[in-house]
Amino acid sequence: MISSKKIPFLELATPHVELEEELVSVFKEALHTAGFIGGPMVDDFEREFAQFCEVSHCVGVNSGTDALRFCLIAAGITNGEIVLTVPNTFIATAEAISQAGARPDFVDVDERTYNLDPEKLREYVETQCEVDGQTGKLVNRRLGRVVAGVIPVHLYGQMADMDPILELAERYNLIVIEDACQAHGAEYCSRKENRWKKAGSMGGAAAFSFYPGKNLGACGEAGAVTTNDEQMARKVRMLRDHGQAQKYYHEMEGYNGRLDAIQAGILRVKLRLLPEWNQQRRQKALRYNELLHDVEETIIPYEPTWSRAVYHLYVIRSRRRDELRKHLEAEQISTGLHYPLPLHLQNAYRFLGFKQGDFANAERVASQVLSLPMYPQLPFNQLEAVGQKISRFIFAQTAAVT
Ligand SMILES: *Cc1c(COP(=O)(O)O)cnc(C)c1O
Repeated sequence: MISSKKIPFLELATPHVELEEELVSVFKEALHTAGFIGGPMVDDFEREFAQFCEVSHCVGVNSGTDALRFCLIAAGITNGEIVLTVPNTFIATAEAISQAGARPDFVDVDERTYNLDPEKLREYVETQCEVDGQTGKLVNRRLGRVVAGVIPVHLYGQMADMDPILELAERYNLIVIEDACQAHGAEYCSRKENRWKKAGSMGGAAAFSFYPGKNLGACGEAGAVTTNDEQMARKVRMLRDHGQAQKYYHEMEGYNGRLDAIQAGILRVKLRLLPEWNQQRRQKALRYNELLHDVEETIIPYEPTWSRAVYHLYVIRSRRRDELRKHLEAEQISTGLHYPLPLHLQNAYRFLGFKQGDFANAERVASQVLSLPMYPQLPFNQLEAVGQKISRFIFAQTAAVT
């Protein structure tokens, strides 16, 4: 009986029960045709996902990490050049930079959106860098290295403020790769173009992950690159398949990074439902907002007028995050931390030489964020129980000190 009261953070099985027949038929088709790698299921998914993202090309790959790495390599970034990103992201963003042969460097985030702060990017470019008179390239003065690109991360399902980022990138010749791994279907209203644009359609290329827990999730590992740049798409296609465009004729060294046909078939089935699922996530977020907006000391997600977020995660902030999390755990409510330690303070990046205090917003945010249960089918009564438990706990705590 106790277990029925548990409120999970995420529940992935329900949609699979509803879609079981269709998903099984994908598997059967693959079995019967022995089409496991490439083929029509991959082609169809690529066409449909490109359409969904409103771009001209989609290239299916093995994971979001591969997608990021292939974008950087295809963009020609290498040789210890710097690629910028934010400290408060999943490590894959920075791993892709290092593994493409570049050096990660960080720009702090906007404390309200948790995404790359374009003002901080401008500051970085204008105070830490200079344009080399001969090559015209942007060079970081302290590190003596070319700054070649930037990866804005659309964290929690909300797009970064792309207009000013793209403007700076254009002025300083930076390639922009969107990390859209949490933002399938998120939208951004470009003031410059005066229209709504989809995540994955704004940079030179974008990386998507279809890890099972993402808004669009495979039944295993999967990812994709989207782009409007034909050359970029062609290079990523080669990189995912050992650098070959024609079997056994290799233009370059590549990787084994293809998208499975079975995963592509599964993704096609689920893609049909993604707009509805994203809508359900937005409704859940709205209800959370209603329940939590006037709870003391509690900061709810900020959605600027130019953003339509798809709430991969619903993240609040509290000074009492750790006590609150413990309390919810005792009430059988599972929560998450995205992410508890910013990348510049991780052991893996000690070699970059950063210290506490270098990215104050990212650090403060990391100590206060709490991800609440969120998935399209989350029952409203569970959501309301979570909201109530939080407001009661915070009320009791704040009443106790005054
Ligand atoms: C999930 C994720 C990735 C990596 O995707 P994988 O498919 O797990 O390799 C990269 N960046 C962000 C922001 C992610 O959330």
